[in-house]
Amino acid sequence: PLAQLKDPSLLKTDALINGEWVGGAARFDVDDPATGELLTHVANLGASEADAAVTAAEAAWPAWRAKTAKERAAILMRWYHLLIQHADDLSRILTAEQGKPLAEARGEIVYGASFLEWFAEEAKRVYGETIPATEGSKRYLVLRQPVGVCAAITPWNFPLAMITRKVAPALAAGCPVVIKPAEQTPLTALAAAELAQRAGMPAGVLNVVTGDGEHSVAIGKVLCERDAVRHLSFTGSTEVGRILMAQCAPTIKKLSLELGGNAPFLVFDDADLDSAVDGAIASKYRNAGQTCVCANRLYVQDSIYDEFVAKLSAKVEALKVGNGFEAGVALGPLIDDAAMAKVERHVADATSKGARIVTGGSRTGDRFFQPTVLADVTADMLCAREETFGPVAPIFRFQTEAEAIQMANATEFGLASYFYSRDIGRIFRVGEALESGMVGVNTGLISTAEVPFGGVKQSGLGREGGHQGIDEYLETKYLCLGGI
Ligand code: ADP
Repeated sequence: PLAQLKDPSLLKTDALINGEWVGGAARFDVDDPATGELLTHVANLGASEADAAVTAAEAAWPAWRAKTAKERAAILMRWYHLLIQHADDLSRILTAEQGKPLAEARGEIVYGASFLEWFAEEAKRVYGETIPATEGSKRYLVLRQPVGVCAAITPWNFPLAMITRKVAPALAAGCPVVIKPAEQTPLTALAAAELAQRAGMPAGVLNVVTGDGEHSVAIGKVLCERDAVRHLSFTGSTEVGRILMAQCAPTIKKLSLELGGNAPFLVFDDADLDSAVDGAIASKYRNAGQTCVCANRLYVQDSIYDEFVAKLSAKVEALKVGNGFEAGVALGPLIDDAAMAKVERHVADATSKGARIVTGGSRTGDRFFQPTVLADVTADMLCAREETFGPVAPIFRFQTEAEAIQMANATEFGLASYFYSRDIGRIFRVGEALESGMVGVNTGLISTAEVPFGGVKQSGLGREGGHQGIDEYLETKYLCLGGI
């Protein structure tokens, strides 16, 4: 799939440190999850290169922060335009290493690039404050300044967007960055870094350190331990988030964590049922169910339960599974064998405890799983507690609004939730009661650069995107002027 790039120089396999492409002594394999075929080998770097990247970023900081916001914004905007201009090649690289259908990959390139546009604009709006003084001889000012070197550790499910969502606000604020992309999907990150170079990013301001799973742990340790790194942003599992948080404790780093979800999707009896079915499909089966905001548990009110299950299943049966490069494919492969094992475990557990497979239910290849609908699902099943991260929609039954809210909130996670209702009172009550950072009301798609994305409870800390997104990368400084 990578032989057909219009600009083959976007296919980078070395890491980027201090403006130089670094190959290192060893390489690791990157494969195509749809076919299992080897795509290429990428630089397998470790602690010493991570250290060098942090040092380069530290050295680049004074000049980067000294630029005007408008100058930094101009570089981000050029990078944005280059990503859009090369969207075809970037989508191919993304589909090849990650598996999502080509049209979805293109959607991610546009979405990922939009964070650069948004934060290029926000860079110019990092306003301070003046506070009325309580002594005549004093004046109180508040400045907002870049926090310093930032590290970003990102997952494989959105190989571009999870990077730009962190890096764009950091750069806009005046912070240099060191990125550790997921070992499954380093190629999109490196292609984006190549375009950042072309956009005029100064050496050391944007560094990408690649490594396999084992090396990622070593790289992560350095990023957490170095005092020069003042902020760590991580998107990934809650389990790894906990490790990184502990590793950052000795140096008291600022942290942004976007961790696991277990999104409930509630359908009340006053909902527009067809619209709820479409929303469920968009939320559940996007990226083959591999997003942290995918509906993980569907709760449907008793009186419309059977009708909803029938309508959803009919539409799910029509979804085509296959290689993301094939026309008409709606669901690509799962990322790896561990992902497949988890999906199969959840389905087997649910059926062993009385759930009914309405459609799908099994794999059709090493990495392909049929889009599945399970009915009569109950709270004692694994899929009620854990994120399945695959194309399985478990449907639970509820009687009352209070019961639905209680079931939806019965989780330690709190990233996204969704509900369908046309009752304005209910929309406020349920919207306020759901314990999550984001709530989709009568929609299954909520992500966009202009809004604050993030979770509560064990789904994480901080917000990405929106005007809030840049706050994570700024310190507040109070200046007290006396003797006036
Ligand atoms: P997922 O379950 O989505 O693969 P992970 O949390 O395992 O999520 O991985 C997300 C990112 O965190 C990847 O870039 C991975 O390499 C990195 N990672 C995993 N474990 C560690 C660790 N102990 N230290 C630093 N980075 C890690």
